[in-house]
Amino acid sequence: MSQVTFSFTIQGDSEGFVTLECPFCESEFKVSADEFQSEEIPVQDLFCPYCGLTTDKDEFYSKETVEHINALATNYMYEEINKTFGEIAKVFNRNKSIVKMDFKPLKKVNVQELKDKDTVEEIFVCTSCDKREKVLFLAGASKVYCAYCGVDL
Ligand SMILES: [Zn+2]
Ligand SMILES: [Zn+2]
Repeated sequence: MSQVTFSFTIQGDSEGFVTLECPFCESEFKVSADEFQSEEIPVQDLFCPYCGLTTDKDEFYSKETVEHINALATNYMYEEINKTFGEIAKVFNRNKSIVKMDFKPLKKVNVQELKDKDTVEEIFVCTSCDKREKVLFLAGASKVYCAYCGVDL
């Protein structure tokens, strides 16, 4: 099977921030959509602003985003199946056979638009890489890390 690449863009909140979720501590934070999805300076790894652990940026997608990607993949698959079976049915029925082939196309799943809601996080600008992130500055949390370079803010 050939490989299929899906491209998708996540829309940010009114200030252009997208929600991410730390795979280690499950805390949510936001980063600037432009910086996160930048094509000039592609982001490889991210740091959790809360626990400071780092891994591949794909691991930081929120559940909502993962669902969105799955829906896109499912629809693509359905479309391919519909195309293939639709053609088979056409050829089959053209042959005036006694048996008619009836094919009902699979219905696509609903793809919800990814739109982030506005929340009350604080915007931090990293002093070393100039990138922006939004984190909930919890009482008791003494440190916030930059999501891109991992320094203390
Ligand atoms: Zn974390
Ligand atoms: Zn930084």
